[in-house]
Amino acid sequence: MTAQLIDGTAIAEQIRAGVAADVKARKEAGKSIPGLATVLIGENPASQVYVRSKQKACAEVGIQSFGQTLPATVSQAEAEALIKELNDNPAVNGILVQLPLPKGLDEERILNTIRLDKDVDGFHPVNIGRLAQKGRDPLFVPCTPSGVMYMLEKSLPSLEGVNAVVLGRSNIVGMPVALLLVRANATVTICHSRTHNLPDVVRSADVLVAAVGKAEMVRGSWVKPGAVVIDVGINRVEDATRPRGYRLVGDVAFDEVKEVAGAITPVPGGVGPMTIAMLLKNTLAAAEMSDK
Ligand code: NDP
Repeated sequence: MTAQLIDGTAIAEQIRAGVAADVKARKEAGKSIPGLATVLIGENPASQVYVRSKQKACAEVGIQSFGQTLPATVSQAEAEALIKELNDNPAVNGILVQLPLPKGLDEERILNTIRLDKDVDGFHPVNIGRLAQKGRDPLFVPCTPSGVMYMLEKSLPSLEGVNAVVLGRSNIVGMPVALLLVRANATVTICHSRTHNLPDVVRSADVLVAAVGKAEMVRGSWVKPGAVVIDVGINRVEDATRPRGYRLVGDVAFDEVKEVAGAITPVPGGVGPMTIAMLLKNTLAAAEMSDK
């Protein structure tokens, strides 16, 4: 392996330890304990796992969590009423609505109902809009993209002027990552399912962020020698040698790309742990905002 491994687990651990220390200092200073409300609608098993791990991470750093669950059959008005109740609850600093929502609910309207200063997931249309505008700042940046940027900033002295290629343009990963890279003065190319000559475009990247959801799509021959590669993808591939019958891989063919890249994140243990660490950081920041 020639690439340096970017260890998301270790970086996330440092962030969590920092949050835990700050929460403890708040308690000692008689300030409020930060609180995160998780809103889980329906019974999507993956969403249940994500929400549980967010609540566990909160407990580990001393953040209170308020778990709210609603059935998939809930009406739009009832879902919005719950968000409004949480908006008015002073013990709740951050509100996280676990996506995707069950069919029939209007995601944009629900996210729009969250008070801006409690939008710790950063998906409120105003926060995303500000992210896209020069001279404006969102109150919160979405957690996975913010974790990606944190790792890039640790891996490179500067992003200014570098050629960055983002694979994927989703609302939750690709597009906000691209906007953040632009804010960091990188020169950004966004690729998607209609991009022509994808391997050639990817080969121009000094920084590559892959968020497509296609197992090991990015091959070693696509990557510029020395590039920094951040693999956001989490994909299950069948593996009869594993007790669960599958293993997790990224969107990057790790074994090939690690021989070409300058630095690379593994899957698992790369971007995944950073997402929750950034959520904890955002929740602490929301509590600090509420002090003022
Ligand atoms: P989406 O399915 O919402 O978006 C995928 C994007 O990839 C789309 O823009 C799509 O293009 C593009 N794409 C799909 N196929 C191709 C292709 N063959 N060539 C080029 N582009 C393609 O996924 P998400 O953004 O939600 O997630 C991406 C991955 O990241 C998934 O594996 C997901 O599990 C993972 N993830 C990991 C997180 C973490 O914490 N580590 C958090 C969130 C997601 P188009 O727009 O044209 O359809």
